[in-house]
Amino acid sequence: MAKKTTKRCVMCGREETAANPVVSVYDQLTICEECIDFINQMRDSERLDRRNAGNKDKGGKSIPTPKKIHEFLDQYVIGQDEAKKYLSVAVYNHYKRINQNADDDDVDIEKSNIILVGPTGTGKTLLAKSIARLLDVPFTIVDATVLTEAGYVGEDIESLLTRLLQACDYDVERAERGIVFIDEIDKIARKSDNPSITRDVSGEGVQQGLLKLLEGSTVLVPPNGGRKHPEQKMIAVNTKNILFICGGAFDGIERKIASRLNTHMVGYGHDEKSRKRQRENLMRYVLPQDLKSFGLIPEIIGRLPILTSLDPLDREALRRILTEPKNAITRQYKKMLELDGVTLEFADEALDLIVDKAIEYKLGARGLRSIVETVMVDAMYEAPSSDSKKLVIDADYVRSQLEKAHFEKTRISE
Ligand code: ADP
Repeated sequence: MAKKTTKRCVMCGREETAANPVVSVYDQLTICEECIDFINQMRDSERLDRRNAGNKDKGGKSIPTPKKIHEFLDQYVIGQDEAKKYLSVAVYNHYKRINQNADDDDVDIEKSNIILVGPTGTGKTLLAKSIARLLDVPFTIVDATVLTEAGYVGEDIESLLTRLLQACDYDVERAERGIVFIDEIDKIARKSDNPSITRDVSGEGVQQGLLKLLEGSTVLVPPNGGRKHPEQKMIAVNTKNILFICGGAFDGIERKIASRLNTHMVGYGHDEKSRKRQRENLMRYVLPQDLKSFGLIPEIIGRLPILTSLDPLDREALRRILTEPKNAITRQYKKMLELDGVTLEFADEALDLIVDKAIEYKLGARGLRSIVETVMVDAMYEAPSSDSKKLVIDADYVRSQLEKAHFEKTRISE
């Protein structure tokens, strides 16, 4: 009778037992079940490591989740929850996309640039700036109104990348993962809804130029900005992984939204209350077609797939902006005087009055700073050389300082 051969594991060298059977692979390799489990565990942990590495940016910093991004923004920006949510998800996905392993699979996640629509001074730039601060990536703000089509007076469109390069000391690789905030995108809307017959130097032509950057392509950038000239050495920058966030007030777009909503609302029995709510903040209902009727070309709109709006700031928001953000203006003054050993306090009524004035003069959140600066100038002059170690700003003081500085006359006309 032939002797039964016992199988042996090629990995650990042990003989097969009933508790640890050895499996033959293609009749050639023999591996025991314990070793197979061990290999599986190793493979799982390596996969996990690879995934975690993928969630880190090239600088080795891990990319915060959308919730963490939102929490971070809350420290600097009051309200604007909707915009924060859209931004957090978009930014998270953007950096996940960049870090995606090219050979992972064949699903190519497309870039999602963002457009923020909302009244001026409601936090569009602040949101973009705060995100760049969190991610520690090069960031630049460009005003769309200074850009003109090549060959005209103004800056070439590529010069917005010059600023991004300058923000990271011409480190092209870093710049290629940066964020560009294009402000006042609404100002390059074409002047009429019909494609232009005459040249529209600062409108449609600029939009066409921007399109190339938003889509993602390699562009030659003049290192010192301004106009390109032939003898200048250009820097090639690929915009594929640059995140573009555009912002604009789109003054008057509410009318376009309203007329669209009215046509859709006919016969749907909306009550007075909901109509009132809609009138109050129509921006919330903004859709890509409203941007088109405003004068953005469809191709640009298509390249800005994430569209979200910012709410106008009400009295309560303005009041919170004065004190709550990490770098709120009142906190900055407190800190400055603290360095001189002086404790600064603002009475509640003083803060209320500052908000009242910002509303009265229609200055919005930007006005809060200039009002506080005007109020504080004498105190900042006196305090460092004064014996008094505590300074309380009350409503009377605010009133008298504003009157003394003729605030209304000198600042409002700015
Ligand atoms: P815009 O929407 O025109 O880009 P900004 O973001 O530049 O407005 O806002 C101007 C200033 O007003 C900011 O620097 C900030 O001090 C203040 N501000 C505006 N909106 C907010 C907000 N939602 N939360 C906190 N501060 C704000």
